[in-house]
Amino acid sequence: MTVSVVIPLYNEEENVRELHARLKAVLDTIGTEYEVLFIDDGSTDSTLALLQDIQAQDSRTIVLSLRRNFGQTAAFAAGFDYSRGDIIVTMDGDLQNDPNDIPKIIAMMKDNDLVSGWRKKRKDPFLSRRLPSIMANWLISKVTGVNLHDYGCSLKAYKRDVIKNLKLYGEMHRFIPAVASWYGVRIAEVETTHHPRLRGKSKYGISRTVKVVLDLITVKFLQSFSTKPLQFFGPIGIVSGMMGLVISLYLAMGKLLLGREIGGRPLLLLGALLIIVGIQFIGMGLLGEMMVRVYHETQKKPIYVIKKVIGPG
Ligand code: UDP
Ligand code: MG
Repeated sequence: MTVSVVIPLYNEEENVRELHARLKAVLDTIGTEYEVLFIDDGSTDSTLALLQDIQAQDSRTIVLSLRRNFGQTAAFAAGFDYSRGDIIVTMDGDLQNDPNDIPKIIAMMKDNDLVSGWRKKRKDPFLSRRLPSIMANWLISKVTGVNLHDYGCSLKAYKRDVIKNLKLYGEMHRFIPAVASWYGVRIAEVETTHHPRLRGKSKYGISRTVKVVLDLITVKFLQSFSTKPLQFFGPIGIVSGMMGLVISLYLAMGKLLLGREIGGRPLLLLGALLIIVGIQFIGMGLLGEMMVRVYHETQKKPIYVIKKVIGPG
């Protein structure tokens, strides 16, 4: 068994050296082969230079340098693609996650395909981070049906085959447990230590909550309807179209049988609108059906561009 630790870093120059030292201290004790992949997500400070330095001294590290700042999810995706371990552990590069939790998580991977950290005593500001996170976790659990306390915790571990065929978009890395559970993998949650950010700045604010909610809608839609969009849009189209038809028939009868004037009636507008909307929705469902086939049958491109890969192999 081998372990790959995947860590995205964006402007973390003040944390890089200590992160590596503490990781190495822990990983050298787990008794299995390991590699650490540092993904520099287009940092503009000296993060990459420091990583390169570390790599030159420690052959168990690999540094991926992304061409620009692609975001945490893309950085994780790059790390997954270049990792070789049977077990892949992810964590933040700002020392808010504790490397000392890694052995415990790896031990739990004996009986699970995915272990997710839970920052039970989370050390982040309450109003801007913890409160939105509590609500988001509740919502995600309800919508996806996969109950976790802390979707946002980066400290997680995956069996290689769980993430092998996963394509990540947007802020999607937090939804991996939800997506993975639909494939029928065994998931466990474990309490992990969390530290306040001592050095460097957090890259996120409250605006991320909005992105997470939008991604949740995408995930839910893909989960429920990605292989059957007409089943989603079709019923709406049929109901709308039928209502429009009934209204139009009623008006037509009035005009033909009773000679009523219908040109100025608002109902005429509504009837026509409902018929058009109905046709549109059914058309959208059919278009969706075509797109689903394209989506599933073409080869998908990665969401990042690698500049270079630094390290052995
Ligand atoms: N990060 C990244 N790309 C980004 C933003 C963040 O690779 O565009 C990294 C960042 O360097 C850190 C991790 O993702 O290692 C978590 O970011 P941060 O600590 O800012 O998030 P928070 O803990 O505040 O949620
Ligand atoms: Mg952080």
